[in-house]
Amino acid sequence: MKIAYIVAKLAEASPFIEHYGMEEVENFFSPLPCRLYKKGELHVILNGMQHESDLVGCEAASVTTLATIERLHPDLIINSGTCGAFKSDGAEIGKVYLGNACMFHDRRVPGDDAWGTQSLGNYPVWSGTDALAQQLGLPQAKVTTGSSLDMQPCDLEIIKANGGQLKDMEGAAIAFVCSLTDTPVMFVKSVTDLCDSGVGTFEEFTRNLAKASEALRLANIKIIEQLISQPNTKD
Ligand code: SAH
Repeated sequence: MKIAYIVAKLAEASPFIEHYGMEEVENFFSPLPCRLYKKGELHVILNGMQHESDLVGCEAASVTTLATIERLHPDLIINSGTCGAFKSDGAEIGKVYLGNACMFHDRRVPGDDAWGTQSLGNYPVWSGTDALAQQLGLPQAKVTTGSSLDMQPCDLEIIKANGGQLKDMEGAAIAFVCSLTDTPVMFVKSVTDLCDSGVGTFEEFTRNLAKASEALRLANIKIIEQLISQPNTKD
């Protein structure tokens, strides 16, 4: 099974890249800034950098996902990264979830039901997610994506009205591109910050990034071991 991990920040991916001794394939995505690390059928793709920082957010994630699908033809895309979550849902710093649904929470487009449906997205997630979560004993939750690290009251309203639980900046954008090409996608999300903790998100994110990334490494090792022992995801 050809697996392509799409990760926004090098700090989120490097424990995992180092664990597997993956090597960079220089200029694979040239002229795009995306970077490919590879070991056998296992691939990690980073968005790359601009303005001296790792590219985060929906635009970069969409470009990376399309380029990955066109150039690597993966059997499964896994978006691994950090997220905010809610104490009130039982979340804790460093807890790792599999995303079993995804939506956008900051696209407000007036109109009829069709525009509302398009705005939220609610794209399909790989049908094997539930079985994998059961096998590994991982909790599942709905990923909710927007373009900002902070959360405005109108974001919270949409998140709560639609069952969003794990707040990130890439998930639904990646699933959108996957939905256009019928590419299976799943999410592995580790909590860096609690949106209802009362502490500033940036401060909490910075303090917990290393811990959450290490939790991602441990979860991803189990996920990969389980996936490579299974037949093709498209079956
Ligand atoms: N200044 C930060 C910027 C990171 S942006 C830095 O030094 O890295 C946050 C990244 O982590 C995004 O890729 C996003 O997917 C994820 N993330 C973590 N917590 C989040 C939250 N509460 N809301 C939105 N995205 C979050």
